[in-house]
Amino acid sequence: MSDNPYKILGVDKSASQADIKKAYRAKAKQHHPDKGGDEAEFKKINQAYETLGNEQKRAQYDQFGSASQQGGFGGGQGGGFGGFSAQDFGGFEDVFSSFFGGGGGQSRNPRAPQRGSDLEVEADITFAESVTGTTKKFSARRYKACEACDKKGGTGEKTCPTCGGSGQVTQTFQTPFGNVQQKATCGTCHGSGKTFENLCKVCHGETRYEDKTTIEVKIPAGIKSGQTLRMRQDGDAGKFGGPAGDFYVHIRVADDKAWEREGLDLIQTLEVPVFEALKGTEVKVKTFWGHETLTVPALTADNTRLKIKGEGIKRDGQKGDHVVIIKHKLPKKVSKKLADLLEQAAKEA
Ligand SMILES: [Zn+2]
Ligand SMILES: [Zn+2]
Repeated sequence: MSDNPYKILGVDKSASQADIKKAYRAKAKQHHPDKGGDEAEFKKINQAYETLGNEQKRAQYDQFGSASQQGGFGGGQGGGFGGFSAQDFGGFEDVFSSFFGGGGGQSRNPRAPQRGSDLEVEADITFAESVTGTTKKFSARRYKACEACDKKGGTGEKTCPTCGGSGQVTQTFQTPFGNVQQKATCGTCHGSGKTFENLCKVCHGETRYEDKTTIEVKIPAGIKSGQTLRMRQDGDAGKFGGPAGDFYVHIRVADDKAWEREGLDLIQTLEVPVFEALKGTEVKVKTFWGHETLTVPALTADNTRLKIKGEGIKRDGQKGDHVVIIKHKLPKKVSKKLADLLEQAAKEA
C-alpha cells in the first residue's frame, strides 16, 4: 500500500475538498475497526485525510511530497539542497520539519496551546427513531487530557540538554559532494528548548494521550436527514492547555416506505371508493402515534388533503399534522345496474 494520501483515499490530485471528504467517509466506514476493518488501514486513511482535508497541509504535501518522489528540490534553491533527494536527509519528515519547524529560529513555540481536532461520525437511524428521538453510542479513538501530569507533560521543567535551549540542532549529512550541514528541530524537546526532569509516563510530555472511548449522543425527536449535531468540546482534547475540539454527528435517516415527511407533517395517501367519497364516510387511519377515525365529508374531491391535527412530528414544542391525501378509487367495471344508477344521478346533478 502506498503512502500517497491521494492513492490511499482513491481521489484525484485535483479533487475538491467535498470529494476528499466524501471519499474519506466512505473509506473510513468501510475499514472501521469496530466494523471488522483493519486497524492499520483505518489509521492510514485517517492520516491521509488529516493531510488532504486541510488546505494548508495539502498544499505542503503537494509541494514537498512530490519533490521527494522526483528526487530533488531542483537548482540549489533553499540553500544547499541542489541535486539531493529528500531521502538523503533522512526522509521527507526531516526536511519538512526543518522547513516549517526550525529554519531561522523564528518558528512558533511548539508548546503553544493547540486546539484539539474535531471528530465526526455518521449516525444511521430509522425513520421511527427520527420521529421519537433516540440515543446512540459511538466508540471512537479520542485524545484525552492527561490527568497524570495535570496537562503539564511532566514535572521539573528544565532547559533541554540536547540543544541547550535553542530548540534546534545542527545535523551533518555526508553526501558524495561532501558534508552538508542542516539545522533541524531538536528531537529531544521538539523545538521548545525545554524538557522535564520527569517526563510524564502516560502522555510522554504531550499533555494528552489517545484513548478509546464511548460517546453517547442524544438525538432529538423530529431530526431530519442531513442535519448535523454538534457536541461542543467532545472532540480531541487540546494540547498544551488548548481547548478541546468538537464532536459532530451527521444524521442519516433511512427511507421508510410507510412514511413520507413534509416539514413536520406526515403524509399518507389513502384510496377511498369514489361513491363513498361522494356521499361522505368515516375511515380508520393509522397515524405514527396510534389509530384515529377520519371523517371524509360528502363530495370530497380526488386529491383532497385532510388533516388530523397534531398527529405529525413533534419538535421543539411544535406539532405537525397527519395529512391524508384522498384518492378516488373507481369501480373495476360498470354493471348494468350501476349504469342505470349513474344515469339517474347524472340527471339529478
Ligand atoms: Zn532540545
Ligand atoms: Zn501526562
